[in-house]
Amino acid sequence: RNHKSVTVIGLGPMGQAMASVFLERGYAVTVWNRTSSKTEELVAKGAVKASTVNDALAANELVILSLTDYNVMYAILGPDSENLSGKVFVNLSSDTPAKVREAAKWLADRGARHVTGGVQAPPSGIGKSESFTFYSGPREVFDAHRETLEVITSTDYRGEDPGLAMLYYQIQMDIFWTSMLSYLHALAVANANGITAEQFLPYASSTLSSLPTFIEFYTSRLDEGKHPGDVDRLAMGFASVEHVVHTTEDARIDNALPAVVLEIFKRGMENGHASDSFTSLIEIFKISDV
Ligand code: NDP
Repeated sequence: RNHKSVTVIGLGPMGQAMASVFLERGYAVTVWNRTSSKTEELVAKGAVKASTVNDALAANELVILSLTDYNVMYAILGPDSENLSGKVFVNLSSDTPAKVREAAKWLADRGARHVTGGVQAPPSGIGKSESFTFYSGPREVFDAHRETLEVITSTDYRGEDPGLAMLYYQIQMDIFWTSMLSYLHALAVANANGITAEQFLPYASSTLSSLPTFIEFYTSRLDEGKHPGDVDRLAMGFASVEHVVHTTEDARIDNALPAVVLEIFKRGMENGHASDSFTSLIEIFKISDV
């Protein structure tokens, strides 16, 4: 029997890509998916299709989960929860740190161990060492399976707390989605003015690539909680965002996204930060009644 072997449960675009690279690297791969037709291509490449979740679990100690969220894990493993003992689950599904901590405990109560993963790559990045995945959970479990996990992407182990990898994952998603929406919004304004995505590309890229310089400049100030208005002032930023909102409205484009940005700047002004840097808005974010 091949010593390199793994079970993959969940064959959406991500799970498919993962099972494929394991096969390419010579792993014995057992797969299970709710919609069983999704196993066909992998079986043609040499994967073993488990007909039940139980069979999929029995095939290997290491079980990789790639599911829509953590509720799906309970839906799949719940009925077989007396057969989880001794298994190592590496869950690469997205959810909240709190849900992950709960799941790690649920598995521990059933004699299984849990490693959390947050994959920082699309399906096309699976199998590439320039992609990486955040991991957290018991160090010795991670170390024991690191070589296998490195088939998927490079690894970045963040610590023992099972929620930690998910926290890192979600704060990256926070940046990703807001930034990508800002790009789409700007493109809608550009399109309304006859500018194509192709024409916009070098300028959008240039602006996005300049962001690390700003982040680096403000990092130590943010860690010290200092927001001096020596290089930028919130009042100036407020006026600038107002121009973006009006340019949007003149183009007859939905203004919801820049309007909420303007609203946050306004709250900063009302809280007495007009002469501070725009980074003082982090204090506004920290005032929450949720
Ligand atoms: P999909 O949503 O396409 O795949 C989800 C998998 O979950 C499928 O196998 C699906 O089964 C299964 N599933 C969903 N609901 C149920 C259920 N009630 N019972 C049983 N199985 C169920 O996701 P992806 O493959 O795109 O992504 C997987 C995870 O990876 C997600 O958490 C996603 O956020 C994360 N991720 C995705 C990235 C991407 O670019 N796609 C990038 C980084 C992370 P079925 O086939 O039967 O529907």
